[in-house]
Amino acid sequence: MQFLRGTITAFFLFLSFSLFAQKATYVANSGVLVQVGQNKVLIDAFFNDGRGRFLAPKEAQLDAMVAGRPPYNNLSLALATHAHPDHFSPIQIGKLLFTNKKLKCLATPQVVDSIEAVMDNFEIIHDRTLTFPLSRSWKSYTQEGLTVKAAYAKHAGKSNAKIQDLIFLVNFNGKKVLHLGDANMDPDRFEELKLEFEEVDLAFVPFWYLTSFYGAEVVRQHIGAKKVVAIHIPENYSQQSLDKIRKFMPDAIMFEKAGQYVSF
Ligand SMILES: [Zn+2]
Repeated sequence: MQFLRGTITAFFLFLSFSLFAQKATYVANSGVLVQVGQNKVLIDAFFNDGRGRFLAPKEAQLDAMVAGRPPYNNLSLALATHAHPDHFSPIQIGKLLFTNKKLKCLATPQVVDSIEAVMDNFEIIHDRTLTFPLSRSWKSYTQEGLTVKAAYAKHAGKSNAKIQDLIFLVNFNGKKVLHLGDANMDPDRFEELKLEFEEVDLAFVPFWYLTSFYGAEVVRQHIGAKKVVAIHIPENYSQQSLDKIRKFMPDAIMFEKAGQYVSF
């Protein structure tokens, strides 16, 4: 009887943990797997080219995504912020959508065009590759258990002026997760987005925002997230630079090793 009671308690503990788990796991570079309860969203995780500077998912990880093996089973949605090879591979995301027959991908028109350019039988997945209109204001997409708001921002760096880049704000039944992609650190643009009123729970921010007092202030004032995670950190990044992030945003979590995770 005692044993039975213990087993039942353990079962309900497990059930409540898996139903209400709020966890984000580092895949590579800016790639993360966010799980809230039953909902799992992969962001910027389907690529294999680290451009010689950044961590990229291992072959086995990409295979697990395509085959829907844990932790990538029952994915709710795939998001890609922009069509740069250290965030997105058209072949990988195409394979993912071919295998996962109900999965949808939300991305920029450039991302979807590049999938179409490399995939045979693109028409089979066409309906599940969704784009947001190129708009400076927030646009929304809703499916069971989550709403994604997205707005365009300039990609950081002048040479990337033609790259369409989306900022995603995913609302999982009240838990809000922000991913900036490679958005330019532009206070005027953030002023328009009014993220500080969203009460963001978890924000994924490119590391370079956090290596100066000015950038850290932009994140504090214009995003004001409860937790900040630095992403896009180069492999072999200098200790001196990591120390800067610790100095300017001491609470920031730094995603550096695949499998690292944060609860929120
Ligand atoms: Zn980029």
